[in-house]
Amino acid sequence: MQLARTANLFYDAALSLIYPRACGVCGAAVESRHDGAACAACWKGTRIFGGDEAVCWKCGAETGGAVALEKRSELVCHRCDEESFTAARACGIYEGALRASILALKREPHVSARLARLLFEAGRRPPLDSATLIVPVPLHAERQRERGFNQAAELGRALAKLNGLRLDEWSLARSLHTERHRAGMDARSRRESVENAFEVARPRLIEGKSVLLIDDVFTTGATVSACAAALKAAGAQEVFALTLARSAQF
Ligand SMILES: [Zn+2]
Ligand SMILES: [Zn+2]
Repeated sequence: MQLARTANLFYDAALSLIYPRACGVCGAAVESRHDGAACAACWKGTRIFGGDEAVCWKCGAETGGAVALEKRSELVCHRCDEESFTAARACGIYEGALRASILALKREPHVSARLARLLFEAGRRPPLDSATLIVPVPLHAERQRERGFNQAAELGRALAKLNGLRLDEWSLARSLHTERHRAGMDARSRRESVENAFEVARPRLIEGKSVLLIDDVFTTGATVSACAAALKAAGAQEVFALTLARSAQF
């Protein structure tokens, strides 16, 4: 009892230390817990997709220019022809408040209301809105032990609470301990390091499903594509990828 009370006191003290906290971008105080790791001004300066940008229907890369609503699904960049996912989208660009939120999410398993809302909004736009099952990109078991949680699973859980879709954290697993993506690793070596790194432990639960794969960042697309290949091999009908951010260079 005494122990529980002490733990609670520590917990309250920890919470009061967390908010107000310093914005991960500019250092100013984050006034609202809703905003998570960045202040309102930095959120304002971060590019969030509104759903009406001209993007490749498959990989979500911006193509520039404008496209009529009814022609959107015909816009394909063809650099992504080999990717195994059906379509990939992100909430915004890997910069400012989104970048700070993603870095914070690697340290503490807290998904702010703002992040959850962004995933919810992006996930309900076509073609992602036809997904029926949420599957987070898994971490290797060893790395998950080091960190104590999988940030993609935290995102998946927060999204499932909002959109009511079922969440399957266990069917997709990482089979090989892949090399950490290093800065300077080119697209080809990133791709080779994750190829065949995933397997579906329980294909029965994946067969015929339209999966919404969740991860924090889309860089080259190699990770979500490797996951999608494993899920499709297990019988998934479609695999859509949704990430918080995509890096601007790809
Ligand atoms: Zn700020
Ligand atoms: Zn594309």
